[in-house]
Amino acid sequence: SNLTDELEASIRTIKDYPKPGILFRDITTLLGQPRAFRRAVDELVHPYAGQQISKIAGIEARGFILGGAMAHQLSAGFVPIRKKGKLPHETVRVAYSLEYGVDEMEMHKDAVKEGESVILVDDLIATGGTAEGAVKLLRQMGANIVAACFVIDLPDLGGRRKLEDLGVQVRTLIEYP
Ligand code: 5GP
Repeated sequence: SNLTDELEASIRTIKDYPKPGILFRDITTLLGQPRAFRRAVDELVHPYAGQQISKIAGIEARGFILGGAMAHQLSAGFVPIRKKGKLPHETVRVAYSLEYGVDEMEMHKDAVKEGESVILVDDLIATGGTAEGAVKLLRQMGANIVAACFVIDLPDLGGRRKLEDLGVQVRTLIEYP
């Protein structure tokens, strides 16, 4: 479609970043194009307009940019999910798997209350390890995860399926094989 074409045209692909053999999908070029940025955010939020969404939880760092815009549009709050050691107050922490090894991410304990409706967002889902960690943190605090949203899905890496198996509804805008 028109939207898919515009978003695809606005995303830059970098060969061999951050390592040889990787095709990195760079969304900074999408963010820099006023119309593409607006259309991506509009498309991410439109199913939830008029629903009572309490919080958008964004994954560091590109999930902050998309999530801030989504929160504004839905009149929701914003919750940062960060790499360990960055949040100043009491946190919950979870280990998550990376391509090589593990890392840890955190969320403030008081950022989400039991039963609140939350939408999770990041720029891209690959293996789903990062988003799975975020889902665990949100559920630990009793959040009701309405959906997880991503601009880009790399379906061959299985992330969407991983989240769906956890009972999370997944919304993505474009796919790269
Ligand atoms: P996963 O945990 O699903 O394997 O990897 C997704 C995480 O890595 C996301 O936080 C995403 O921002 C980042 N990521 C992995 N590959 C890419 C890529 O090609 N482009 C961008 N923009 N982010 C990526």
